[in-house]
Amino acid sequence: MKTRKIPMRKCVACQEMKPKKELVRIVRSPEGEVSVDPTGKKSGRGAYLCNQHSCFVLAKKKNSLGNQLKTTISEEVYAELEKGVQ
Ligand SMILES: [Zn+2]
Repeated sequence: MKTRKIPMRKCVACQEMKPKKELVRIVRSPEGEVSVDPTGKKSGRGAYLCNQHSCFVLAKKKNSLGNQLKTTISEEVYAELEKGVQ
């Protein structure tokens, strides 16, 4: 039996390592545009967040996404994220 390696990523809010598919990816494109990336396939600098509301709140409060992506996260992006998390 071959064990499939699951790609793990770290949540910017709680710092926990989780399988990539359990996280929401936020990406900053080479043009500097920040967006939520449900497919995980957009190019650019990425940050990951647990698909849970507490991590969203924490990340927003601490500006973890902004720090990770070295940019300002707009209210629109936060609004979109909030819709996406559970
Ligand atoms: Zn988290």
